[in-house]
Amino acid sequence: MYTLVYSIDNSEHPETVYVNLTNSCTNSCIFCLRNQKDDVCGAEMWHDDSYSLEDIINQFEKYNPKPKSVVFCGYGEPFLRREMMKEFCKYLRKNYPEIKIRVNTNGHANAIYRTNIVKEFKGLIDAVSVSLNAANEADYDEICKPKIKNAYEEVKKFIKACVDEGIEATASVVTGFDKIHYIDAGECEKIAKELGAKFRNREFIENGY
Ligand code: SF4
Repeated sequence: MYTLVYSIDNSEHPETVYVNLTNSCTNSCIFCLRNQKDDVCGAEMWHDDSYSLEDIINQFEKYNPKPKSVVFCGYGEPFLRREMMKEFCKYLRKNYPEIKIRVNTNGHANAIYRTNIVKEFKGLIDAVSVSLNAANEADYDEICKPKIKNAYEEVKKFIKACVDEGIEATASVVTGFDKIHYIDAGECEKIAKELGAKFRNREFIENGY
């Protein structure tokens, strides 16, 4: 069975575990870890989505004691498995209400589904980290190579939608991934603040983690 739940530290009892729901994504970021390696800390990340909720639960239940937080992340855009994510969140809320749940997302979900899916996740997730990645649309398109129209504006709208629903939202950028692209982190932070979100500048690490 491939990796659906994994950790990125060497501890037997990690504080955070990550959930790898899909390898599909509506971006193709030039710094994406998927272009560099097939595993995260030895965990094989590629799969074809042919798993069940029970498969996720079984992998999650191997972690004892339970982690303090669960992050939907992995090698793809988690909201593309919207219903599966919802079901696992419900499982966590029911059985481990103290666990904090975060989604790392490209922020395209509302545009993809043409509805405000954030409302469906209110109460099921605590926080989102949304990849803003640029201070303007032209830079975003060059860095993220989105497969949807008006992606940059959609990302900003998604961040605002999360803030409006009371979900803790952080807009993130990745800097230092090459010598060609300059990311205006100061301007990105300003945009994040205007949207009511926190801001995180994540410096690129070769080969990740
Ligand atoms: S949004 Fe994330 S998973 Fe998708 S291409 Fe960019 S870095 Fe990779």
